[in-house]
Amino acid sequence: MAAIKMTRAAQGARAREVLDRLMRAYPDACCSLDFQNPLQLLVATILAAQCTDERVNRTTPALFKRYKTAGDYANAQDEELQEAIRSCGFYRQKAKTIKAACQTIVDKFGGKVPGSMEELLQLNGVGRKTANVLLGECFGTPGIIVDTHCKRVSARLGFTRNGDPAKIEQDLMRIFPQERWTDLSHCLVFHGRAICHARAPRCSQCCLRDLCPFPDTREGKKLAR
Ligand code: SF4
Repeated sequence: MAAIKMTRAAQGARAREVLDRLMRAYPDACCSLDFQNPLQLLVATILAAQCTDERVNRTTPALFKRYKTAGDYANAQDEELQEAIRSCGFYRQKAKTIKAACQTIVDKFGGKVPGSMEELLQLNGVGRKTANVLLGECFGTPGIIVDTHCKRVSARLGFTRNGDPAKIEQDLMRIFPQERWTDLSHCLVFHGRAICHARAPRCSQCCLRDLCPFPDTREGKKLAR
């Protein structure tokens, strides 16, 4: 059950309005990681853990030039791969994760990044968030990407009371139509970065202010904790 009490129809209409407004506010909302194929996106998403997308995008051009296939990563010298991704932080663990994921891609999936949730979850370092990024961006399967922005903004808007990413994903899947899940994910990230900041949301400048319980109601404040 979603957080705000209203009929399913009213909730659906409100959700549509929220997403329509966000899409007008962020017409270019998209994945901010640079990539040209599923393998590059997989590697970029692993590097993006606890790192900014901008830094990842500054790191990956040289990396992608050097390592082109899953086999290249699986067979990479540890120190060389670590050095190539050092600027993204946690480089030893990330190198290990990339190598292990790519070894599985070679061993189980013929060297190609698989295109289903079930298969993607078999890769080291891939949880539902990364799998949904890949499915939405590379395989035409809409998915809800529950990152820190999605968690915060969807709670403040009253779309979920849950803190667990898998449950938030389920809540949003119930409220929004499937064909809009990827757009929703991008819009929540863009809105979280631009307006609905963690510490000081810019509610007076928000296109959703009249639809959001956060600024003016106790429920909103309770939800956003
Ligand atoms: S009104 Fe404030 S809390 Fe609600 S979505 Fe906008 S910025 Fe976030």
